[in-house]
Amino acid sequence: MTRLTILEYPDPRLRTRAAPVTQVDDSIRQLVADLFETMYAAPGIGLAATQVNVHQRVLVADVSEDKNQPVALINPEIIAADGAEITEEGCLSVPGYFDRVERPNHIRVRALNLQGEVFEMEAQGLLAVCIQHEMDHLQGKLFVDYLSELKRSRLRKRAQKQRRQEPEHAAL
Ligand code: ZN
Repeated sequence: MTRLTILEYPDPRLRTRAAPVTQVDDSIRQLVADLFETMYAAPGIGLAATQVNVHQRVLVADVSEDKNQPVALINPEIIAADGAEITEEGCLSVPGYFDRVERPNHIRVRALNLQGEVFEMEAQGLLAVCIQHEMDHLQGKLFVDYLSELKRSRLRKRAQKQRRQEPEHAAL
């Protein structure tokens, strides 16, 4: 496995829309393994391929305390969503910055597994937030896009000035 370099805001490559995976082969399985290694090492609770400059619809997450509940989604689609919850989100691509974002707190997702088979899963709470956050990355969207223009312009200035800090909370 290889630890990959994570792109940081405002890198324009984070705005790329990922293409669907056409075949789940060894290169995709390798990508998933590398995403997990990179995410756990960061440390973070989710990572989208976009963040490592690979523009295919692949994401990984693990919101468990013991880091033993890995979730890998290929070509994920949200097929149902309800509820609403405000969560303080962070992002490995926006180091050291956290802000509140409102999203549905219960989703049903359809995706391909590592064998290329379709499956569906339910996610609630932090896992639901994390999957939505990572799916945004696959569309070239960042959680800071939900914030006001004033906050984003401050953040851009800060990102230009500041060096990377250690995250204080879970970063997605
Ligand atoms: Zn993120």
